[in-house]
Amino acid sequence: MKILMVSSEAAPFAKTGGLGDVLGALPAALARLGDDVAVVIPKYDAPVDGTHRLPHSFYLTVGGITFPASIDEVVMEEVRYFLVDCPQLYQRGGIYGTGAGVFPDNHIRYMALTQAALSIARYIFRPDLFHAHDWQGGLLPALLKTSLAADPVFLRARSVFTIHNLGYQGNFGPGIMGELGLDSTLYQPAGLEFYGQVSFMKAGIVWSDAVTTVSPTYAREIQTPVHGFGMDGVLRDHAGKLTGILNGVDYSVWNPEIDRYIPATYSSRDLAGKRLAKRALLAEMGLPVDEARPLVGIVSRFAYQKGHDLVGSIAPWLMSQDAGLVVLGSGDTGIERMFLGLAAQFPDRVAVRIGYNEALSHLVEAGSDMFLMPSRYEPCGLNQIYSLRYGTVPIVRATGGLADTVTTETGFLFDDFSGYALQSAIADAIAAFGDPASWRRKMVLGMHQDFSWDASAVAYRDLYQAHATTTEFE
Ligand code: ADP
Repeated sequence: MKILMVSSEAAPFAKTGGLGDVLGALPAALARLGDDVAVVIPKYDAPVDGTHRLPHSFYLTVGGITFPASIDEVVMEEVRYFLVDCPQLYQRGGIYGTGAGVFPDNHIRYMALTQAALSIARYIFRPDLFHAHDWQGGLLPALLKTSLAADPVFLRARSVFTIHNLGYQGNFGPGIMGELGLDSTLYQPAGLEFYGQVSFMKAGIVWSDAVTTVSPTYAREIQTPVHGFGMDGVLRDHAGKLTGILNGVDYSVWNPEIDRYIPATYSSRDLAGKRLAKRALLAEMGLPVDEARPLVGIVSRFAYQKGHDLVGSIAPWLMSQDAGLVVLGSGDTGIERMFLGLAAQFPDRVAVRIGYNEALSHLVEAGSDMFLMPSRYEPCGLNQIYSLRYGTVPIVRATGGLADTVTTETGFLFDDFSGYALQSAIADAIAAFGDPASWRRKMVLGMHQDFSWDASAVAYRDLYQAHATTTEFE
């Protein structure tokens, strides 16, 4: 089958989180199954090696304004990546915005990306099915079913829409209908109107042939008011076409047997390298090199979603425990201050590094004994899956993908989003760490779990086959 994906991110070209990871790995996994896969993303500032410029150039028209664009292609693991080169829209020193805030015309930027994907489908890569990702891709299913419904080229086009995080919906004021040149009849409750706004995410849900999200538990949770961000009613209305497919992880990057960022590789048969990683991590972070004391790691964006405020709420208790804490991340300044404050007050227990650091994130995964993710919600989550492979026992809130990947055999889960529940889970973990034989069994069981992309790719492929027209659309 020929699949054309459209996304705002794809690793290694552009990544701010899990979305980028998925678009860097799922297409290649589908290609290994024999599918012909291409991905359309913007060409942002970062130069990309090995691209070639296609002879086609397009005028992307958004509400009467035309943006000239060229297409650069790069092939990676048998997947064609089409990078839409339109400096006016995409080369501005940030993906969605800069330190000064989000770009005010993101609706135009991603409508233009949708137009580029449609032009690529028309002239360069004619797919059996479109796969649009997150709100930035949400208008694609809508256009296929509305303004393009009578276009002979797209007559039989089908689309799948994936929600990677319902917390980001791409909602804009109603004035953008005109700016985007959208037919005003689409602005209605059964269409893309959402509490007086225009919602790209809702457009993707309403008009796609199938909706997926990145874990089975998250697929259920987003249909409830607690996790639905107001979209739960829409999702319940479309529940018949909603499924959860767990993300995979890239074990060619996240695997202690081959990891080049850690001092010595290791495996479940020989854990000596893990002890070395712990010593290296403690030394790197300026903590006392005490192997016997349990070490808890955190690597994360500091966002409300991630629930780090709960760690702050149990800090007095946590600091009374004989355990260390290493934190790598950045984001919410209140959370940054909370962690930095703990490090300043308890320098022999807590060490914090503010920033994004690929190498250190591997060392934290390898060198910690436990990994903490107290998320309010977590569509899939990747770090807990990395932790399992590194023998670093996850302590997680039982929500979304965390609940689908961590079990009481391989980790520690808590249900309520409360300091008390978090504290009991950490207390259980610290107590269990005191029994080396059973702790080792837990680690090794986690290391043997397999969340590689191949299984998830089969699930996507089955879904595509259920929806695609059997022959390429005319
Ligand atoms: P989300 O997409 O919500 O941020 P995920 O767990 O799905 O969460 O993916 C986060 C990805 O970003 C992981 O690959 C993680 O290792 C990486 N990451 C997050 N923060 C940092 C950081 N400060 N330094 C290095 N990598 C980070």
